[in-house]
Amino acid sequence: MDVAALTQTPVLCYHRIGGPLELGVTRVGRSVFARQMTALARAGWRTVSLDEFPRTTDDARPRFLLTFDDGYESLAQNAYPVLADLGFTATTFLITDHIGKTNTWDVRYTWNRLEHLSWGQIEDWCARGFEFASHGATHRRLTWLDDQTAEAELKGSRDVLVARLGAEAGRGIAYPFGAVDGRIMRIAQQAGYEVGFGGVRGNGDTLNQPRVPVYVWDLGDIPYGLRTDALGAAGRFVAHAANRCAVGTSVMLKLKRRREMGDARDVAPERTSHFSRLPVRQRTARPPESAADAASTPG
Ligand SMILES: [Zn+2]
Repeated sequence: MDVAALTQTPVLCYHRIGGPLELGVTRVGRSVFARQMTALARAGWRTVSLDEFPRTTDDARPRFLLTFDDGYESLAQNAYPVLADLGFTATTFLITDHIGKTNTWDVRYTWNRLEHLSWGQIEDWCARGFEFASHGATHRRLTWLDDQTAEAELKGSRDVLVARLGAEAGRGIAYPFGAVDGRIMRIAQQAGYEVGFGGVRGNGDTLNQPRVPVYVWDLGDIPYGLRTDALGAAGRFVAHAANRCAVGTSVMLKLKRRREMGDARDVAPERTSHFSRLPVRQRTARPPESAADAASTPG
């Protein structure tokens, strides 16, 4: 790994592009996304692959790693074709137990459940140079799991991807909610991952790289995550704050579920909201459980 290359390559993280509106902040409109990608291409930006990401290059053009979390089916209609037309590529982090299924892992923020990409769609776009990697098997917050369960999430999802798509698909992991600590990084490394992505303030380790999520309010031609001016710094700060608040929302939802079930023993802490939903700090029943979680990011 080349540390200089890593710090020179910002990483953008989108979730849903187009499709039904939601009571959350992670959906970016199709036209907004197309406008942003077109503006970046015209400004000379290029995308890099996960393999190229940690390497230095003689190419002087500005570059970034474009990523999508959760692997929604709408990417195949609203995002990938736009990127292919521009000569861009992207890495999509898949929830392997939900490939070809709906997003029952998440709290419902849309009228109907959302579809995830199928294996057929994934293989088609893989053949066209798009990359796929792991977002865990079931989208659980890894820092709240014991070693054995965290290993099952990390290694299990990687094994599935490698078996289906080849060794390249075992290279990267985006930790759900961006929640990662030293223990999870160690387990990820043992599972075979080379690159890992945490929150906005990832610590720079190859297994805890920072990413900047693009939220619904990030409407400019150049997303905040690629801007070097004061506006970009402000946008990244807001994204980080939104993620912190979302942890509070997760805790609130966990307590709500506990009340509904009437049995606290059955409530697994990882059954929480997707990181970036309506950040509502004032509704937080109690503070995040650790500093590491407070610093976590988008799912
Ligand atoms: Zn996610």
